[in-house]
Amino acid sequence: MTYFEQFDIKKEIKKAISDMGFEEPSPVQEKAIPVILEGKDVIGQAQTGTGKTAAFGIPIVHRVTEEPFVQAIILTPTRELAIQVSGEIQKLSRHLNIRTLPVYGGQSISQQVRALKQGVQIVIGTPGRVLDHLRRKTLRLQEVRMAVLDEADEMLDMGFVDDIEAILKEMNRERQTLLFSATMPPLIRRLSTKYMKTPVTVTISKKEVTAPSIDQCYYKVLERNKQEALCRILDSQDPDLGIIFCRTKKGVAELTEALQARGYLVDGLHGDLTQPQRDAVMRKFRDHSIDFLIATDVAARGIDVQNISHVINFDIPQDPESYVHRIGRTGRAGRRGQALTLVTPREMKHLRSIEEEIHMRIPAQQIPSIEEVV
Ligand code: ADP
Ligand code: MG
Repeated sequence: MTYFEQFDIKKEIKKAISDMGFEEPSPVQEKAIPVILEGKDVIGQAQTGTGKTAAFGIPIVHRVTEEPFVQAIILTPTRELAIQVSGEIQKLSRHLNIRTLPVYGGQSISQQVRALKQGVQIVIGTPGRVLDHLRRKTLRLQEVRMAVLDEADEMLDMGFVDDIEAILKEMNRERQTLLFSATMPPLIRRLSTKYMKTPVTVTISKKEVTAPSIDQCYYKVLERNKQEALCRILDSQDPDLGIIFCRTKKGVAELTEALQARGYLVDGLHGDLTQPQRDAVMRKFRDHSIDFLIATDVAARGIDVQNISHVINFDIPQDPESYVHRIGRTGRAGRRGQALTLVTPREMKHLRSIEEEIHMRIPAQQIPSIEEVV
């Protein structure tokens, strides 16, 4: 067994890791950290929830010095993720004298400019806002030693490729570049050959992580019975905390209203909300003052909330990779999770392609009868 003790990192970081309650490195951390510490460029592929943040976060806080200029930058697809990653890096560096700053759209830029002037060593940002700072010359990346593209597949899906390239071009070529992603579409390979120096690839296969910690099943249901079926499933399973995925914003709004009308503690998250509204919903979810978050794939990108017991696909995703992303929200850090999917007869083909992607069969379950739930 490997322990964090064996890594050649500052003792302050080892202390912080143990404060965080991490006992041993996850597989991606075990493989990636030593290679990153050697200074090599690394591509890390592992599913959501496998600890990729600390895999790059630990070497970054180890390498960054107290000198007051930006030495590392981490690009993330969403504001929520920028805040989350920044929080994790802050925890890792709590016994060191290092400043970390998340920069993202929707927050006052002048406040970020003031914070940057204080001397920040690690910046975590969304591509759009980082580029905005570069254009205003309120952020300098020439002296960056380490650059990370976190959740690279999601950033590309969201159309950030030009922004990412523009940002990479601002940096010194001597930098170390790290790229982390749950999936490896061809565009990522292209980006890595263009901007990375003979990267070492670290892969943790899906089978190593999906199968053991997440129980999956599906319910066959007619389109018009979906809401009733969902309510019966919720009543019979009584989940602690869950995310319910819908295909569209409209679907999120409708289901949120319907479940609230039936007395469930739920709230919806979708792209039409303002940043303060999103923050308020996320806060309620984190505090467990709601039991379920209802969301679209885009709205739920990168969200890491502890102890999510259930992921429910109210609408089955059409793309097998989003299924893998969605169910990765549960079963984190060794806890068991449940992933339930409603499937209409017309959607059985999507279920089959998901099964092909994950190399396993998802068992069918019967929708509980009224007698079983009351
Ligand atoms: P990813 O980026 O791969 O989706 P995260 O870095 O967000 O995953 O980590 C998922 C969760 O696991 C986080 O809550 C994180 O604090 C926790 N975690 C990460 N590494 C470890 C570890 N070695 N031991 C225990 N928990 C860990
Ligand atoms: Mg991550």
